[in-house]
Amino acid sequence: MTTHYPIAILGGGLGGLITARVLHVNGIESAVFELEPDRTARVQGGMLDIHDDNGQKAIHAADLWNTFDSIIHRGGESMRILDHTGAVLREEHDEGQMARPEVDRGQLRDLLIDSLPEGTIRWGHKAVAIRDIDGVAGRREVEFANGQTITTDLLIGADGAWSKVRPLLTDAKPSYTGISFIEADLYDGPQQHPAEAAAMGAGMLFAFKDDTGILGHLETDGTLHVYLGFRVPEDWADTIDFTDTPAAKQAILERLPGWNEALRGFIANADTPLTPRPINALPAGISWDRVVGVTLIGDAAHVMSPFAGEGANLALYDGALLALAIAEHPEDTETAIAQYEADLFPARPTPRKTPPTASKCSSLPALRKDSSTCSPRSTLKRPPATRPSGPGGTNPSKRFRKLGGTVWWCLTGYYEHGYRGYRENKEPDCYDGDEGKRFFWSSGMFPLPLSPRATCSSSMKST
Ligand SMILES: Cc1cc2nc3c(=O)[nH]c(=O)nc-3n(C[C@H](O)[C@H](O)[C@H](O)COP(=O)(O)OP(=O)(O)OC[C@H]3O[C@@H](n4cnc5c(N)ncnc54)[C@H](O)[C@@H]3O)c2cc1C
Repeated sequence: MTTHYPIAILGGGLGGLITARVLHVNGIESAVFELEPDRTARVQGGMLDIHDDNGQKAIHAADLWNTFDSIIHRGGESMRILDHTGAVLREEHDEGQMARPEVDRGQLRDLLIDSLPEGTIRWGHKAVAIRDIDGVAGRREVEFANGQTITTDLLIGADGAWSKVRPLLTDAKPSYTGISFIEADLYDGPQQHPAEAAAMGAGMLFAFKDDTGILGHLETDGTLHVYLGFRVPEDWADTIDFTDTPAAKQAILERLPGWNEALRGFIANADTPLTPRPINALPAGISWDRVVGVTLIGDAAHVMSPFAGEGANLALYDGALLALAIAEHPEDTETAIAQYEADLFPARPTPRKTPPTASKCSSLPALRKDSSTCSPRSTLKRPPATRPSGPGGTNPSKRFRKLGGTVWWCLTGYYEHGYRGYRENKEPDCYDGDEGKRFFWSSGMFPLPLSPRATCSSSMKST
């Protein structure tokens, strides 16, 4: 039997879940179809820093701030940059400003799952085919691997990098960025791996040399979560047998000659098998023409390099933005999607907005709290398209101080990969002689600029 759902969200990652949650707090029910068999099927490792200009706004829109606040890793915003010998090039401490508080990805996902009415998520539903239904504009049938089918008038593709929904809107496909990660965990770092824990510090770690880098986090339970990144050909991981962990460790360690023992220890002493993760991205700035009854959010819309640290934030932000647009136009989802996509593709004109009614306003207490108007979307505005010139603008401490100031700004600017929030103003005029910055920019880890702006790359090369 085929069941009809007015709103079907494909994919129960952070983007899909927050969409369902924000719809729910606005009195609109939806169904989430997720391929995993249940919530425990896959370990959701790693820490995410949730940014005040996008991810945090989505959490507010979902009316989940208090629960979110309870899972923040206090102190986790600390950041250090090391060279391969272990020398500290830059260190910043978490002073509790909450610009980018760190949370455990799994806890954030649990928080969102628990915030939904029972039965919202249909586990074990892997979409395998999507078909238009003749004669009903925008209505589609989705077929799942378990043999079930549904129909829907609004299909939201929240199904990640290899989205099944995306081909309805664009031919664009992710391609390999030239960087592969190896992921590993060391459990109970402070007790079991004190040397590696000392290298990691209290929060986030970056260590780079040439074409190799380590990005790590201290997790809330003491786990040291590490990504080792290499600039390597796409098929490089196929040359290593990752099912043979000792042999895989040996192969990876051979790529770390001269590295400090504690940094090598992230691989040598890993408690988990090493997991290869080739990094793929969609081209920066893709867009599509409006297609009735379907849209994309999160990685399905703009999967990007993790260096920007924005993918999860934008998945949350997109989901909240779309859900609020639907809440503004519950009887006219086409206007809602057009409004959402106008925000997603900033070059396009925004359709005229209908002022929200009093009753809808009153259903959004979390937003009204920090909003000067009653519009649901008013607190989810993107950051201004034009940033003040220079790293961090006239007040470097204001926005970028927490994550290495200009270093981080340059990094995110450089790695736009569809990072629409800053798309119009890529100003990575970043190099000013600071040792930490020199280190980042001289590192071969970072591929050639994706941004057409050459200012930064030329100053970089001349240093
Ligand atoms: C190594 C690494 C580190 C990262 N670190 C950060 C970071 O520090 N900060 C940050 O902001 N971002 C980070 N990101 C990016 C971030 O993980 C993603 O941008 C984010 O998870 C996207 O969320 P999403 O909901 O759009 O997609 P996903 O999280 O990919 O969720 C998609 C969901 O759809 C389901 N699905 C897929 N296909 C189907 C189908 N056919 N049918 C049904 N369900 C389906 C999947 O099972 C999954 O649950 C990192 C990414 C990587 C690879």
